[in-house]
Amino acid sequence: MKQSHTHGPIPDGFFADIPKVDIHCHLYGTIREATLQDFVRETSAPLTEEDVAGYYVRGEKPRGVLHAFRFMEKHIFGTEDRLYRVTRECLEDLSAENVRYAELFWNTTGTLLHAPNLSFDAAQGAVIQAMDDAERDFGIVSRIIHSIDREASPEDAVVMMERALATPHPKVIGLGIDYMENERFPPEGFWKAYRMAQEAGWKLTAHAGENGSHWRNIETCLDLLKVDRIDHGYTVLDNPDLLQRCIDEGIVFTVVPTNTHYLNVLSPDEWAEKHPIRAMGRTGLKIHPNTDDPTFHNTSPNTVWKTMHAAFDYGLDDLRTFMLNGLDGAWIDDATRRDMTQAFCESFDEAVRNHRLHPV
Ligand SMILES: [Zn+2]
Repeated sequence: MKQSHTHGPIPDGFFADIPKVDIHCHLYGTIREATLQDFVRETSAPLTEEDVAGYYVRGEKPRGVLHAFRFMEKHIFGTEDRLYRVTRECLEDLSAENVRYAELFWNTTGTLLHAPNLSFDAAQGAVIQAMDDAERDFGIVSRIIHSIDREASPEDAVVMMERALATPHPKVIGLGIDYMENERFPPEGFWKAYRMAQEAGWKLTAHAGENGSHWRNIETCLDLLKVDRIDHGYTVLDNPDLLQRCIDEGIVFTVVPTNTHYLNVLSPDEWAEKHPIRAMGRTGLKIHPNTDDPTFHNTSPNTVWKTMHAAFDYGLDDLRTFMLNGLDGAWIDDATRRDMTQAFCESFDEAVRNHRLHPV
């Protein structure tokens, strides 16, 4: 592990001990390999054991996970019991690494397209039941962010919102957009679904500026889609005025150290030095590190936080700031935010003392 400039090395146990929120995590990107192997056997889906194992290999130049997602939408997630199991196991695994609150992105468009006998209501009910059970059994609180499939049409996004608004639930709190961000699918096409969510009082976020895509997408998401947060948002660094505006407005950026694009475009030698996350956190921008697709990225909440220190040289004070940024960006009420902030700070400071680190 590299030495932090300000505090010296931080031991692995510290990253396990600090409390966490995960507000950028895709439900389908949390599936355990053993569970996916079970599901493939159950469904007789056209994939070998070796093919499934291949999804979990994260080579030097990793393949993205979207192929696995499309496969699972088509063959795997069309039943309530499998949605329940993946949700419960996701929350069990996050909770095991001291994640106390999670907002999970869930794309329903592709799943329901391939499961004509599964209603939106039943599918959402299975996920919510697993969230209730996980809260009881593991103590982790979780919420759903319905997420737009930007490779489907804007009209499909409106249909998704119509379905979601017809089955409201207190655990359903926000709208996001993901899948491949490119010129064919700019964010502005999805204004209507965002407007529906905004009028329903939902919170809003969007994947933007993820794959080297133009900073304009970030600006569009802020000004047209009216998002509260930005997911990834790395190309904000390309426009100093936009960056300053995001700093001034306190926009929280949910960043992902294992982002596939930068593993592919940067060499292993330069990755840690040139990754935008290294610069973003030093500009005053409010960033918070997250798992994204933890099992497919071969990462976990503890690893994500360790990477912020070991790869990007952030010290204890920075990590504490990032923790507070996550609580600031989380879609919780003010009383909950106050209580969680106090509890998180106490736990963080206790971990600092227990590991005999620089006192906070
Ligand atoms: Zn993501």
